[in-house]
This record gives sequence, C-alpha cells and structure tokens, in this order.
Amino acid sequence: SEAPTPSDCLFCRFVSREIEPDVVAETDRSLAFRDINPQAPTHVLVVPKRHVENAGALAVHAEELADVVSLARDVAAAEGLDGGYRLVFNTGAEAGQTVFHAHLHVLGGRSMQWPPG
Ligand code: 5GP
Ligand code: ZN
Repeated sequence: SEAPTPSDCLFCRFVSREIEPDVVAETDRSLAFRDINPQAPTHVLVVPKRHVENAGALAVHAEELADVVSLARDVAAAEGLDGGYRLVFNTGAEAGQTVFHAHLHVLGGRSMQWPPG
C-alpha cells in the first residue's frame, strides 16, 4: 500500500499548523483536536507529532505512545467525562482506519455499546 509521506499527510499538516484544526490540548509530543465528524458529544483525536502509520508503529516509540494516552486522559478529564470514556485506535482498513497517521479516538458524553459495529 502507498503510505502517505508526512508532506501529504493530513494530520502532519495539522501538527505543522499548515492547516489549523480545532485544538483542545497539546504537549511537546502530541496534539489533541476535535473530530470533524463527531460520533459522540465529545470526540477528540489525539495524535503523536511524529508521523507513524498506526498504533503498532507507535508502540516502538514508547514515550510518545504514553504521551498520547496521558493526553487523552487529560482531555477526558477536561471534558468532564467522569462517567467514563472510550479510547480507540482503528488499525488497518478493515478496522475502519481511514487516516494513516496514528490517532487515538477519545469518545464520551453518551452511553456506549459493546461490541462496536
Ligand atoms: P479513522 O477512521 O482513521 O480511525 O479516523 C479518522 C478520523 O478523522 C475520522 O473520525 C474523521 O472524521 C476524522 N477526520 C477526517 N478528516 C478530518 C479533518 O479534516 N479534520 C478533523 N478534525 N477530523 C477529520
Ligand atoms: Zn502524518
């Protein structure tokens, strides 16, 4: 498959602010912004600033992976998701991944079903 290079990756353009997303939080390593097509009252994407294709590729960068998850926790707290929230890495096309820059979905503000469709 043709993995995008950072220069034509949408989320790299967000990280560089060539395109400005609706940012909710940021660290040196990660950026959190609202999903353009929210699936819950809170739907934020947390991305590592490093371009990696998916969560598996992020796993070898342990500090960045930890930073993404901890920023997701901070976003959930800031959004008041005291009743719980869902974190999802869609990994690969069959799982529904459409943007091939790793991103952690933070979903909350409504009750969730399991398993997802
Ligand atoms: P995936 O399906 O790859 O797990 O998730 C990609 C997510 O990126 C989707 O939830 C989709 O709505 C979101 N998305 C796609 N294009 C844009 C965009 O231009 N801006 C923002 N904020 N989110 C986007
Ligand atoms: Zn990228």
